[in-house]
Amino acid sequence: MPHTVELRGHPASPGVFCGPLVTVDAEQPVTRAGGSPDDERAALKTSIAQAIEELTRLAEQVDEESADIIGFQIAMLEDPELSQPAGDEIDCGTPADIAWKTAVEVQVADYEASDDEYFRARAADLRDLRDRVMRHLTGLGKSRLPGGAVLVGDDVTPTRFLETDWSGGGGIVLTGGSATSHVAMLARSRGVPMVIGVSGCKIAGHREALIDGASGEVTLSPDADALLRFEALSRQAEEAKKTDAEFAAKPARTADGEPVAVMINVASADELDAIDVATCDGIGLMRSEFLFHDGAALPGEDIQFTVYRRLLEWAEGRPVTIRTLDAGGDKPIAGLTVDGEANTFLGVRGIRLSFAREDVFRTQLRALARAAPHGTLKVMWPMITHPDELDRAAAIFDEELASLKAAGIECARPQLGMMVEVPAPAIAPDLFDAAEFFSIGSNDLTQYVAAAARDNVAVMALAEGVRPVIERLVAGLVKYGHARGIEVSICGDLAGDESAVNQLLKAGLRSLSVAPAVLGRIKAAVASVRLEA
Ligand code: PEP
Ligand code: MG
Repeated sequence: MPHTVELRGHPASPGVFCGPLVTVDAEQPVTRAGGSPDDERAALKTSIAQAIEELTRLAEQVDEESADIIGFQIAMLEDPELSQPAGDEIDCGTPADIAWKTAVEVQVADYEASDDEYFRARAADLRDLRDRVMRHLTGLGKSRLPGGAVLVGDDVTPTRFLETDWSGGGGIVLTGGSATSHVAMLARSRGVPMVIGVSGCKIAGHREALIDGASGEVTLSPDADALLRFEALSRQAEEAKKTDAEFAAKPARTADGEPVAVMINVASADELDAIDVATCDGIGLMRSEFLFHDGAALPGEDIQFTVYRRLLEWAEGRPVTIRTLDAGGDKPIAGLTVDGEANTFLGVRGIRLSFAREDVFRTQLRALARAAPHGTLKVMWPMITHPDELDRAAAIFDEELASLKAAGIECARPQLGMMVEVPAPAIAPDLFDAAEFFSIGSNDLTQYVAAAARDNVAVMALAEGVRPVIERLVAGLVKYGHARGIEVSICGDLAGDESAVNQLLKAGLRSLSVAPAVLGRIKAAVASVRLEA
């Protein structure tokens, strides 16, 4: 029996799992016997078509978010620019598999060298489609990763994740990876534990591993003590799930009886099908940018109106806060956001982009104004930095409202508020007195206060270190909100961190908006807070 080895990486998706180890990159390279350039070109064309067909079938079986990821790969495969360099190589006598691999690897290297975390994360998609076409070219066909295992590799591709059967559990341990990659996003939404950036991960000789996605700990060949710890963690997780469900069913109150609103953050209306509206106090943040897709046609007024109305109808009168388009930063949208900015987090994002693309902004505002009569809508501006931006956004809204009214179209003016996610309004909220409510975006506020990019693992500790500063800013905002009689809530990830709830409530907050997956856990954390203590 090999010795137990303890490794530590960065958490990317919480949960615990113990099972057999499987190397993701274990496929043996197979080469094809090359034919004439015409034959090789035809073989490449057929293999790409087979890969597209496979992906199209896969996209039909998965949810909307996953289908988008697959759609990105299909679009890449359909783009002649991807296969052109391989075709040129084939014309010079190179067999199709070598030509394809070499050509795509050049592109992978370009993506990996990008300064932008988003593009670096997309390199995994390219490797994924490279391997899929290779499997057809070399006659290996489809390769599935086994479920019920701890997968170990440099990176796992999104479609291999989606083709894996996770119903019997499983986990992912990566030497590379990124917490903002599509795979990490998928792992979190499926509850598959994942740890990234595990250095020194040599698994030869080990058969089994234990992964704790919340702490980032990975144990190879766990001994009896480690297995006991794992069993205890699994029991805790099961019990926590039951307790979470019990708390989710009741309104949140502190131990001394103070009511606290707990709302949810959503990215699409489809997510709501799995959520019982009675478990939450409304939608505290709808990230409307997820309606806009890379390179795709922008969603028109009617499509947006239908989505917004669906959210409002689902909420049955509870408040629904829809944030206007917050693209840019770590959420670039091809064809919409500005290309080539040196520092996207400090660039044309959020409301700045809406002012730069007033046509897109006006379309969204008309859809929102039309949806407003269907429930309790609140519209929120992202990245407000200067008080004038509030006046400008409201003036555009009022113009669109007036034009809808003039055309006899049913519409209404919702409350207009702002995210507090830039230091300026967090430091001097009184200058932003045109806002009808504040919602604290702790994710961006933290990165701007700490000068530490939210997607850079290397400076993650700095962001954690400024927590007391953020709490002080929260207390100041709440005090100002009380004095002015406006609501102050929080919708950044800090609200969904159970270790922060005590301080947030003591700072005076009474409205939290969190990811649906942690709703029960946060209500439980609220119940353990004693404000008088
Ligand atoms: C935030 O910045 O805290 C926030 C809620 O917005 P996003 O995470 O979408 O930037
Ligand atoms: Mg933000």
